Amino acid sequence: MSKIIAITNQKGGVGKTTTSVNLGACLASLGKRVLLVDIDPQGNTTSGVGISKADVENSIYDVLINEVDPHEAVAQTAVPNLSIIPATIQLAGAEIELVPTISREVRLKKSLAQLRGEYDYILIDCPPSLGILTINSLTAADSVIIPIQCEYYALEGLSQLLNTVRLVQKHLNTSLQIEGVLLTMFDARTNLGIQVIEEVKKYFQQKVYQTIIPRNVRLSEAPSHGQAIITYDPRSKGAEVYLELAKEVIQYEQAAR
Ligand code: ADP
Ligand code: MG
Repeated sequence: MSKIIAITNQKGGVGKTTTSVNLGACLASLGKRVLLVDIDPQGNTTSGVGISKADVENSIYDVLINEVDPHEAVAQTAVPNLSIIPATIQLAGAEIELVPTISREVRLKKSLAQLRGEYDYILIDCPPSLGILTINSLTAADSVIIPIQCEYYALEGLSQLLNTVRLVQKHLNTSLQIEGVLLTMFDARTNLGIQVIEEVKKYFQQKVYQTIIPRNVRLSEAPSHGQAIITYDPRSKGAEVYLELAKEVIQYEQAAR
């Protein structure tokens, strides 16, 4: 069975894109067929897997707005088993262009339904907002992964996000679940990080992944080389933890079955 997971948090800089690219690449390295869907106009997932935006022929914009067959927008990455539907800055217009269209919230869902059978995991990298692109992602997804940065205002804005999840559950996608909450950019040298972990665990309890992503400079370097961490530096701490996370994600799915 395939699973569609939206990686979402309306805060920017919490590790959504880093998680999409590296969880995706690690799942692929474990033999899963993975499709990344970049639905952030910044296109950082797209460049993060080594795709030059200037060379993109069909992007997620064409799928959502021009009703291009999603198969026509899938590009292979350098990592075996890892494909992507890329995004370019053109997508920035989509928030406005979608407003007057019919069934604007379900466009992504309909498109991904055509691809579902071909992948084990489809990971959607959401933009830092709760606009129509994120609503499309939550409507298309089976579940969400929420990355939370281990920093002072970590829980700020979360009630807004959870409220949006509830609204989507009520009106657009009754079966949407919270897949897991991922703590990112943990710095073991500060007490603050430990406090944040405790607070997040109190709030989300068993939904919090055991794997905690530490700050790792190699993770922040890899995107500028257009590589996932497992190819950029397979021996780094970053590669180790994202591989651990991928195993945890697979395990939860097996346990649920
Ligand atoms: P988002 O997609 O939520 O905006 P990103 O994944 O782009 O967040 O991360 C924001 C910035 O932090 C990027 O420059 C990224 O390279 C860096 N970063 C993300 N995770 C880590 C980490 N675990 N260690 C070090 N830097 C990280
Ligand atoms: Mg991002």
